Amino acid sequence: MRLLDLIYPPRCVLCHDHLPRGGAYTCEACSRRLLRQEPIKRKLRFLDGMVAVAPYEEPYRGSVQRFKFGGCAFYAYPYADWLSACIRSELGGAFELVTWAPVSASRSLRRGYDQARLIAVQAAKRLDAPLVRCLRKKRHNPAQSGLKTPEQRRANVTGVYRAVKPERFAGKRILLIDDVVTTGATVEECARVLLTAGAASVVCASVATVK
Ligand SMILES: [Zn+2]
Repeated sequence: MRLLDLIYPPRCVLCHDHLPRGGAYTCEACSRRLLRQEPIKRKLRFLDGMVAVAPYEEPYRGSVQRFKFGGCAFYAYPYADWLSACIRSELGGAFELVTWAPVSASRSLRRGYDQARLIAVQAAKRLDAPLVRCLRKKRHNPAQSGLKTPEQRRANVTGVYRAVKPERFAGKRILLIDDVVTTGATVEECARVLLTAGAASVVCASVATVK
């Protein structure tokens, strides 16, 4: 047994049960669940395609919550494994570079990481595509999860993202990565800003999505 396993007994990334030994990210039941999981496709404004690994339901929901708020940054590794497989099968050939939907600088400082960026860094490596920062979040807006209607969510994200050095992605087809897509208002706004700044097209992939 590794020393780290004694300090942090390994747990399944999805259901959070203890794993018999280190080395795997998921327990047997969750590994089988992942194999059975069909990618979820959605149609969203400004996007030429959107795919997610799984529905935003348990055990995926709890996993993503630990990733975002519970300090489980290393989940970016298994997430990128699952996501890149899903992207290859559903969005292969639809992009030339990878970017992500960023959190604001203040949120990133407080949490210690920009969660979608962590996934995008690993996914870009697995997909052998360049990772380019294309967006900056100008300010921290209230959490989308606290807003009920699609109109409220759309209004909440309008104008909060800005293109960064558009000359690096003008005319290019972009893959936008986020951890969770709920109503889609955030990734639609990101895509709108990218297209306005000259991107040829935008497709999106996330770990989980609301069906
Ligand atoms: Zn499990």
